[in-house]
Amino acid sequence: MADDIARRPHYSEGAGHALNTPLQPSVVYRADSPDDLNATYDGTAPGFTYSREGHANALVLAQKIDALEGATGGMMTGSGMAAVSATMLALLDQGDHVIGGDQLYGRSLRLLTQELPRYGIEHSLVDPTDARSVEQAIRPNTKLILMEVVSNPTLRVADMEAIVEIAQRHNVILAVDNTFTTPLAYRPLSEGADIVIHSVTKLLAGHSDAMLGYVVCKSEAHSAAIDGVIQTHGFTPSPYDCWMAERGLMSFQLRYERAEENAAKLADHLAGLHGLRRVVYPGRPDHPDHNRAGALLGPRFGNMVSFEIEGGMEAANKLVRAMPNLPFAPTLGDIGTTLSHAASSSHRAMSPHDREKMGMSDAFFRISVGIENIDLLKEEFSNGFRSLSG
Ligand SMILES: *Cc1c(COP(=O)(O)O)cnc(C)c1O
Repeated sequence: MADDIARRPHYSEGAGHALNTPLQPSVVYRADSPDDLNATYDGTAPGFTYSREGHANALVLAQKIDALEGATGGMMTGSGMAAVSATMLALLDQGDHVIGGDQLYGRSLRLLTQELPRYGIEHSLVDPTDARSVEQAIRPNTKLILMEVVSNPTLRVADMEAIVEIAQRHNVILAVDNTFTTPLAYRPLSEGADIVIHSVTKLLAGHSDAMLGYVVCKSEAHSAAIDGVIQTHGFTPSPYDCWMAERGLMSFQLRYERAEENAAKLADHLAGLHGLRRVVYPGRPDHPDHNRAGALLGPRFGNMVSFEIEGGMEAANKLVRAMPNLPFAPTLGDIGTTLSHAASSSHRAMSPHDREKMGMSDAFFRISVGIENIDLLKEEFSNGFRSLSG
């Protein structure tokens, strides 16, 4: 048996060339000699050594996302949070200060407010729709600003133009989590940011079957530092997830365009339903940041719609139970529409009073609109709303 294993043949592509990227789950790679292995480690020869330090499926996927972001040298991680964490751990030292949007993704907020303080890293949270509050938060030791362009689930649009200018003037690194906006609506590097982060788990992969993150930097020094953290902390993704996401990415643009078109139509439909208190969609003229969204995202208003119904938790439960065909699931960016509810998921740790102040009552929902037939989606919501008055 041992002899058989030792004589395992080399992997061969066969007579032709595979049209699709082969899935390569090997943890370790053979070298032909110690000199060759040294050259691979040094980066003077192509290839891989040990998959925590890099593998073909991650490299191919990163290059495809690079092309969408107009970047080079992007790195894959095992989750979106691994990409956020690697960036913070690589670029912040004890005594540094980081500024974050006050409505960042929940785990990013936890990273800033609960994990980084253990390493002696200070933070301030600011309202990204108000650039003055960003500037006022800057201290002599401020090293990095972390922003999301559109907040979740309140869908407010950050004043990115002014924030880019502030970061550059104060020589502070600007990292943008572009998960919500995607490179089809906003390309942070060409707008003046230094770093782009993605939860590839969401729209880019698009099928809720792969968990991945991505980070790319303008500066080679930043890239090298982040790459070191990814390899040492073990934030590397699995080849299988990268391979799945590459397949998902092939239809990203088509899915995004259809979902966005559906979102605009669904927002207008909700606005006419009895029992609605307000609908929130940046593409609608009644959105508080409508003009900024148009200028910044150049009518790519996205696939996310939020809304509030009349009533409280009781009404919220009634609505969800009356829409059995609509998955009530706390994620976003799936090919199908999903519904989520801040008060019972992403923002459940917050007091009702604080949630209310941020515009998220117990009757506030967010829809991640998918690519279904819009008439079926409208019908489902019409049925759900009808149950509220019944
Ligand atoms: C989901 C999400 C993350 C975290 O990504 P995971 O892949 O779930 O770790 C980070 N930022 C934003 C904006 C997200 O929506």
